[in-house]
Order: sequence, then structure tokens, then C-alpha cells
Amino acid sequence: MNHWRADFPIFNTPLDGHPLIYLDSAATAQKPQAVLDALNTFYTQEYASVGRGIYPLAERATQRYEDARAKVAHFIKAKPHEIVFTSGTTHGMNTIAHAWGEHHLQRGDVILMPAWEHHSTMLPWQHVALLKGAVVKYIPVLPDGTLDMNAYDALLSSRVKAVICSHVSNVFGTTVPVNALIEKAHSVGACFILDAAQSAPHGMVNLEKIPADFIVFSGHKMGGPTGIGVLYINEKLHDDMPVYQRGGGMVYEAHFDRARWRKAPYKFEAGTPPFAQAIGLAAAIDYLQTKVNFEQLRAFEASLCARLIQGLSLMPRAKIYGPVDSLAQEGHLVSFTLEGIHVHDAAAFLGSQGICVRAGNLCAQPLAEQLGIQGLIRASMYLYNTEEDIDALLAGLHEVVKVF
Ligand code: PLP
Repeated sequence: MNHWRADFPIFNTPLDGHPLIYLDSAATAQKPQAVLDALNTFYTQEYASVGRGIYPLAERATQRYEDARAKVAHFIKAKPHEIVFTSGTTHGMNTIAHAWGEHHLQRGDVILMPAWEHHSTMLPWQHVALLKGAVVKYIPVLPDGTLDMNAYDALLSSRVKAVICSHVSNVFGTTVPVNALIEKAHSVGACFILDAAQSAPHGMVNLEKIPADFIVFSGHKMGGPTGIGVLYINEKLHDDMPVYQRGGGMVYEAHFDRARWRKAPYKFEAGTPPFAQAIGLAAAIDYLQTKVNFEQLRAFEASLCARLIQGLSLMPRAKIYGPVDSLAQEGHLVSFTLEGIHVHDAAAFLGSQGICVRAGNLCAQPLAEQLGIQGLIRASMYLYNTEEDIDALLAGLHEVVKVF
């Protein structure tokens, strides 16, 4: 039994009479008690709006919110004013596409991203490209689930204005050599946007090592509450990025016919921000930083991937999608199909036994279409999983192939 699991109260309650086998952390992660306690304390003893109140309760809440910003900044080695709180990765990506993309793109410009990108990247950029007469081009994915770096080289040109990539693919689990991509993007004058939704929870984002211009990730995938995300914007880009949403909090002065905005990060935080959620996210980061050695965590998750891959290799109807050898070394998720069985049937059957996996196109429908599959079954691991979870999944899959 792993020593982190006891910190997550959800595992104390059976699911419809079955022990909970939760293998869907790439979708959203379970919450440690420390985060639940931080939220409870804030809501029951410290709650007031931030940024506006002049009374002590509001001043303290504001301080807690800004402390959360500083904590996130420290977590990824950014400066606090480079951290914008959003509602999640999707909101962060939309903010970049509109605030930066609409301002900087011109007719004929190119945006590059891998064909596996999440809908939350593909769709906002498709939209902005259409508005501006720009084109989105896709870096092909090789059959082993890695990026075709030669094709990337061939696609690069001075027309490329932005390169966007998931640090870890939510479809294949591939860890991308982002520095190689960043260097080449910068060499043609393009900015680089990192989708760290699947890497930040595993402690992989460090701006001192990964010089991305923008980074987005979600709090709920790393033990934090829902409704909170992080958008890192390099300070050099702040002044040349108009606001995206307008409203309270972000305004410096407003008149009947005009307004002026505050500086970043506030100019990108219109309305009452998700401050309780930000405090919950800070508690999640605290928890991870005090309880987890990220290298150990990643090695542990990879060992669970290796166990699953080994088990699947003994099932003739199972086909793994992704860089199998690397997943066993550094992965935290494994995607696969079972020949002749619909992925939803498999996931529903497993679910009836308390085994939670994701099944479907994994928010990457164009890729699923390209691969000619209806979807994938994805098992994703985090710090509370155990070898027993993997064995239960494999036993469940053996049942699935008997039944269908
Ligand atoms: N990008 C990747 C790689 C993801 O895995 C996800 C979540 O599934 C997202 C973006 C979108 O995250 P959210 O739904 O929290 O905005």
C-alpha cells in the first residue's frame, strides 16, 4: 500500500460496494485532506472578497490570494506578476488565443500544433485563425506515438507565429522533448505555448529549464479544487497583449466613454476571481511539495505503467497506442483498445466493478478519426495508485474479453 493514499479520504468509501480503483487522474485528480481542510478553513473562518474590501477580513483574504499566486509562481519558477489565475487550462488557452492571437496574427500567418492536441487548444486557435485569415497546421504524430520532428522542421518558417504543444500528450502519454521544439520555434521568431495540463501535476514544469512564453494548466488535475487554472505569461509580453475580458477588478479607471486597465496579471482577471479555489490550489501545491519527491513520484507512476503494459502484452486482443518503452520509463498513463470491443462497453463494465478509466476520443477527435478508431481506453496514474489497482484493472479486462 502506498504511503500517500491515506491522505485521500475518497478511498475510505467503497463505490457501490466495491473498493474504489481510480485510474482516471489525467481527467481529474482526487483531493488530499489538506486541500479539503484549507478550503473548509477559508470558507468557515476567513471568507471575504479579494482586491476590493478595506476591512481586515477582506484584506486578509486578499493577502491569501496573493500568497497563492506567489506559491504557484515559485512552483514553476516564474515571477508572481506573471501568474494569471483562470478557471482552467481551457480558459487559459482561450485567453492566449484571443488576447495575444487576435492582436498578433495576420493573414497568411501559421500556427503549429501536434495533431494530437486537445480540443481546448485546437478549437480556440481554429477560431482565431479563421478570424484573422491565418492557418493552423498540424505536426504529424508517428505510429509509435511520438512527434514527427522532421515534419516539424519542414513546417517551420518565418510565417509561423506560434507553436503550441502539450508537454505530455493526454492521448498517448508521450513526454515531448519541448526544449527542442521551443528552440526551433524561437529561431523563426514564433512564440511557444506549453499546455502543461498533464505535466504540472507531476512536477515537470520549471521555467528555468523550459523557456516557454506561455504556460497553461489546471488545478483540478493536481489535487486542487475545480474552477482554478494557471496562465503563465512571460512579463516581456505583458504590454503588447490587450485585455481579453473586461469588467470589475481589472480596471484602473472607468468613465462613461472609456476606461484604462490595470497592469498584468490583474488586467487578465476580470470579475471576482476564483480566490477560494486559488487558496485550495496553493494548499495542493504545499501538499505536493512537502509530501512528494517528484522524481520518485514519476518513477513510481512509470512502474505502474510498466506493470500495466506487461499485463496487456499478455492479452492478444489488447493494442497499446503510444511509445510503450518510454511509458514504462517515464509515463503516467497508458491508452489501449481491445479488439472487437467498444471502448465504452469496456469502460462501463469496469465501472460496474468500481474501476474508473476514461474511454472515448480523449478530447482529440480529429486524431481518433485519423487513426480510424472510435476511441481509446485510458488508464492514468497518480500518487495514490497501487500495484493492486493495476492488477484489479487487468483482472477486470480479462473479464471484459470473456464477456464481449
Ligand atoms: N489539455 C490537456 C492536455 C488535457 O489533458 C486537458 C484535460 O483533459 C485539457 C487541456 C483541458 O483541461 P481543462 O478541462 O481543465 O480546462
